[in-house]
Amino acid sequence: METGKRKMLFDTGGFGQRRELFPRLKAMGHPAESFEIVVLSHAHWDHMMNVPYFSNADIYLHAEDMKFANAKVQDVDRAYPLPYMRDLLSTRHLRCWEGDSTLVEGVQLIHTPGHTPGSISAVVETEWGRTVLCGDTIKNRAEYFSEEYDVRGDEQTFHAGVKRIRALADAIAPGHDRPFDTKSGKYLADGDREPAIIANFEKNIQKESVCKPMP
Ligand SMILES: [Zn+2]
Repeated sequence: METGKRKMLFDTGGFGQRRELFPRLKAMGHPAESFEIVVLSHAHWDHMMNVPYFSNADIYLHAEDMKFANAKVQDVDRAYPLPYMRDLLSTRHLRCWEGDSTLVEGVQLIHTPGHTPGSISAVVETEWGRTVLCGDTIKNRAEYFSEEYDVRGDEQTFHAGVKRIRALADAIAPGHDRPFDTKSGKYLADGDREPAIIANFEKNIQKESVCKPMP
Protein backbone atom coordinates (compact mmCIF):
# COMPACT_ATOMS: atom_id res chain seq x y z
CA MET A 1 0.00 0.00 0.00
CA GLU A 2 1.18 3.53 -0.66
CA THR A 3 -0.50 5.78 1.84
CA GLY A 4 0.68 8.97 0.22
CA LYS A 5 3.36 9.49 2.81
CA ARG A 6 5.03 6.24 3.69
CA LYS A 7 5.21 2.86 2.02
CA MET A 8 3.40 0.12 3.90
CA LEU A 9 3.23 -3.67 3.61
CA PHE A 10 0.58 -5.84 5.27
CA ASP A 11 2.11 -9.17 6.34
CA THR A 12 5.34 -10.54 4.93
CA GLY A 13 4.58 -14.22 4.29
CA GLY A 14 6.75 -17.16 5.23
CA PHE A 15 9.76 -18.93 3.70
CA GLY A 16 7.78 -20.16 0.72
CA GLN A 17 6.88 -16.67 -0.46
CA ARG A 18 10.40 -15.28 -0.58
CA ARG A 19 11.21 -16.55 -4.05
CA GLU A 20 8.21 -14.67 -5.49
CA LEU A 21 7.80 -11.77 -3.16
CA PHE A 22 11.19 -10.07 -3.25
CA PRO A 23 11.94 -10.13 -7.00
CA ARG A 24 8.44 -8.85 -7.71
CA LEU A 25 8.54 -6.09 -5.16
CA LYS A 26 11.88 -5.05 -6.62
CA ALA A 27 10.56 -5.18 -10.18
CA MET A 28 7.73 -2.86 -9.11
CA GLY A 29 10.27 -0.40 -7.75
CA HIS A 30 9.69 -1.36 -4.13
CA PRO A 31 12.70 -3.24 -2.78
CA ALA A 32 12.23 -4.55 0.76
CA GLU A 33 14.45 -1.89 2.26
CA SER A 34 12.26 0.87 0.80
CA PHE A 35 9.29 -0.03 3.03
CA GLU A 36 8.85 2.18 6.03
CA ILE A 37 5.95 0.36 7.68
CA VAL A 38 5.12 -3.34 7.98
CA VAL A 39 1.82 -4.20 9.63
CA LEU A 40 1.47 -7.75 10.92
CA SER A 41 -2.03 -9.23 11.07
CA HIS A 42 -0.67 -11.59 13.74
CA ALA A 43 2.59 -13.26 14.69
CA HIS A 44 2.20 -16.69 13.07
CA TRP A 45 5.29 -17.78 11.13
CA ASP A 46 3.59 -17.74 7.72
CA HIS A 47 2.77 -14.04 8.12
CA MET A 48 5.85 -12.67 9.81
CA MET A 49 8.91 -14.69 8.88
CA ASN A 50 10.26 -12.22 6.30
CA VAL A 51 10.26 -9.29 8.72
CA PRO A 52 14.10 -9.17 8.98
CA TYR A 53 14.33 -8.26 5.27
CA PHE A 54 12.33 -5.06 5.84
CA SER A 55 15.21 -3.60 7.74
CA ASN A 56 14.10 0.04 7.55
CA ALA A 57 10.46 -0.49 8.47
CA ASP A 58 8.60 0.07 11.69
CA ILE A 59 6.84 -3.19 12.51
CA TYR A 60 3.30 -2.84 13.86
CA LEU A 61 1.98 -5.72 15.97
CA HIS A 62 -0.88 -5.68 18.45
CA ALA A 63 0.40 -5.84 22.03
CA GLU A 64 -1.78 -8.87 22.77
CA ASP A 65 -0.03 -10.84 20.06
CA MET A 66 3.36 -9.73 21.23
CA LYS A 67 2.56 -11.09 24.70
CA PHE A 68 1.04 -14.27 23.28
CA ALA A 69 3.93 -14.92 20.89
CA ASN A 70 6.43 -14.34 23.66
CA ALA A 71 4.71 -16.99 25.80
CA LYS A 72 4.33 -19.39 22.88
CA VAL A 73 7.97 -19.30 21.96
CA GLN A 74 8.76 -20.48 25.50
CA ASP A 75 6.30 -23.36 24.92
CA VAL A 76 8.22 -24.41 21.78
CA ASP A 77 5.10 -23.90 19.67
CA ARG A 78 6.02 -24.60 16.05
CA ALA A 79 3.91 -21.66 14.80
CA TYR A 80 6.43 -19.39 16.54
CA PRO A 81 9.97 -20.35 15.42
CA LEU A 82 12.46 -19.23 18.02
CA PRO A 83 15.10 -17.36 15.93
CA TYR A 84 12.47 -15.34 14.09
CA MET A 85 10.46 -14.57 17.16
CA ARG A 86 13.61 -13.50 18.98
CA ASP A 87 14.45 -11.20 16.13
CA LEU A 88 10.95 -9.78 15.95
CA LEU A 89 10.48 -9.30 19.66
CA SER A 90 13.83 -7.65 20.16
CA THR A 91 13.85 -5.35 17.16
CA ARG A 92 14.06 -1.69 17.95
CA HIS A 93 11.60 -1.14 15.12
CA LEU A 94 8.76 -3.01 16.85
CA ARG A 95 5.75 -0.77 17.49
CA CYS A 96 3.27 -2.59 19.68
CA TRP A 97 -0.10 -0.96 19.91
CA GLU A 98 -2.95 -1.57 22.33
CA GLY A 99 -6.69 -1.18 22.35
CA ASP A 100 -9.47 -1.50 19.83
CA SER A 101 -8.11 0.48 16.90
CA THR A 102 -5.37 2.77 15.75
CA LEU A 103 -4.48 4.83 12.73
CA VAL A 104 -1.15 4.26 11.01
CA GLU A 105 -0.51 6.80 8.25
CA GLY A 106 -4.26 7.09 7.70
CA VAL A 107 -4.87 3.34 7.53
CA GLN A 108 -7.22 2.09 10.20
CA LEU A 109 -6.11 -1.00 12.09
CA ILE A 110 -8.81 -2.75 14.11
CA HIS A 111 -8.43 -5.43 16.75
CA THR A 112 -10.23 -8.58 15.58
CA PRO A 113 -9.04 -11.18 18.11
CA GLY A 114 -9.79 -14.89 17.97
CA HIS A 115 -7.39 -16.54 15.56
CA THR A 116 -4.79 -15.21 17.97
CA PRO A 117 -5.40 -12.80 20.88
CA GLY A 118 -3.81 -9.93 18.98
CA SER A 119 -5.11 -10.58 15.46
CA ILE A 120 -5.89 -7.35 13.65
CA SER A 121 -7.36 -6.22 10.34
CA ALA A 122 -6.55 -3.19 8.18
CA VAL A 123 -9.34 -1.12 6.66
CA VAL A 124 -8.53 0.88 3.53
CA GLU A 125 -10.43 2.50 0.67
CA THR A 126 -9.37 0.94 -2.62
CA GLU A 127 -10.70 0.77 -6.16
CA TRP A 128 -12.83 -2.12 -4.83
CA GLY A 129 -14.53 -0.01 -2.16
CA ARG A 130 -13.87 -0.42 1.53
CA THR A 131 -11.38 -3.25 1.68
CA VAL A 132 -10.52 -5.21 4.79
CA LEU A 133 -7.21 -7.07 4.94
CA CYS A 134 -8.11 -9.51 7.66
CA GLY A 135 -5.22 -11.96 8.10
CA ASP A 136 -6.42 -15.37 9.22
CA THR A 137 -9.63 -14.24 10.90
CA ILE A 138 -11.23 -15.05 7.55
CA LYS A 139 -8.75 -17.25 5.71
CA ASN A 140 -10.39 -17.61 2.32
CA ARG A 141 -13.45 -16.92 0.20
CA ALA A 142 -15.03 -20.29 1.00
CA GLU A 143 -15.06 -19.48 4.71
CA TYR A 144 -16.71 -16.13 4.06
CA PHE A 145 -19.60 -17.52 2.01
CA SER A 146 -20.10 -20.78 3.89
CA GLU A 147 -19.77 -18.96 7.20
CA GLU A 148 -17.85 -21.96 8.45
CA TYR A 149 -14.68 -20.58 9.90
CA ASP A 150 -11.56 -22.07 11.39
CA VAL A 151 -12.59 -20.89 14.85
CA ARG A 152 -9.73 -20.43 17.30
CA GLY A 153 -9.79 -19.30 20.89
CA ASP A 154 -12.97 -18.15 22.53
CA GLU A 155 -15.85 -18.72 20.11
CA GLN A 156 -17.77 -15.57 20.99
CA THR A 157 -14.69 -13.39 20.67
CA PHE A 158 -13.80 -14.95 17.34
CA HIS A 159 -17.28 -14.42 15.89
CA ALA A 160 -17.40 -10.83 17.12
CA GLY A 161 -14.27 -10.14 15.07
CA VAL A 162 -15.73 -11.80 11.99
CA LYS A 163 -18.97 -9.85 12.39
CA ARG A 164 -17.05 -6.61 12.55
CA ILE A 165 -15.13 -7.40 9.37
CA ARG A 166 -18.29 -8.47 7.54
CA ALA A 167 -20.09 -5.24 8.51
CA LEU A 168 -17.26 -3.10 7.12
CA ALA A 169 -16.12 -4.86 3.99
CA ASP A 170 -17.06 -4.27 0.36
CA ALA A 171 -14.04 -6.39 -0.41
CA ILE A 172 -11.93 -8.73 1.66
CA ALA A 173 -8.28 -9.65 1.30
CA PRO A 174 -8.15 -12.84 3.36
CA GLY A 175 -5.06 -14.42 4.86
CA HIS A 176 -4.86 -17.36 2.47
CA ASP A 177 -6.74 -16.46 -0.68
CA ARG A 178 -7.07 -13.71 -3.28
CA PRO A 179 -9.11 -10.59 -2.58
CA PHE A 180 -12.81 -10.96 -3.40
CA ASP A 181 -15.97 -8.87 -3.59
CA THR A 182 -18.24 -9.60 -0.63
CA LYS A 183 -21.46 -9.24 -2.65
CA SER A 184 -20.72 -10.90 -5.97
CA GLY A 185 -18.09 -13.26 -4.60
CA LYS A 186 -15.89 -12.43 -7.59
CA TYR A 187 -12.16 -12.51 -7.21
CA LEU A 188 -10.79 -9.02 -7.66
CA ALA A 189 -7.18 -9.66 -8.51
CA ASP A 190 -6.98 -11.73 -11.65
CA GLY A 191 -4.72 -11.31 -14.64
CA ASP A 192 -2.81 -8.10 -14.70
CA ARG A 193 -4.52 -6.70 -11.61
CA GLU A 194 -2.59 -8.80 -9.16
CA PRO A 195 -1.85 -6.61 -6.15
CA ALA A 196 1.08 -6.93 -3.84
CA ILE A 197 -1.17 -8.06 -1.03
CA ILE A 198 -1.59 -11.47 -2.63
CA ALA A 199 2.12 -12.14 -2.71
CA ASN A 200 1.42 -14.89 -0.20
CA PHE A 201 0.01 -17.00 -2.95
CA GLU A 202 2.87 -16.96 -5.40
CA LYS A 203 0.64 -15.48 -8.08
CA ASN A 204 1.88 -13.46 -10.97
CA ILE A 205 1.99 -9.95 -9.62
CA GLN A 206 2.49 -7.39 -12.33
CA LYS A 207 0.78 -4.37 -10.86
CA GLU A 208 0.02 -3.26 -7.39
CA SER A 209 -3.26 -1.92 -6.19
CA VAL A 210 -3.02 1.63 -5.00
CA CYS A 211 -4.83 1.89 -1.70
CA LYS A 212 -5.98 5.26 -0.48
CA PRO A 213 -6.09 5.87 3.26
CA MET A 214 -9.43 6.08 5.06
CA PRO A 215 -10.76 9.62 5.30
ZN1 LIG B 1 -2.39 -17.68 11.52
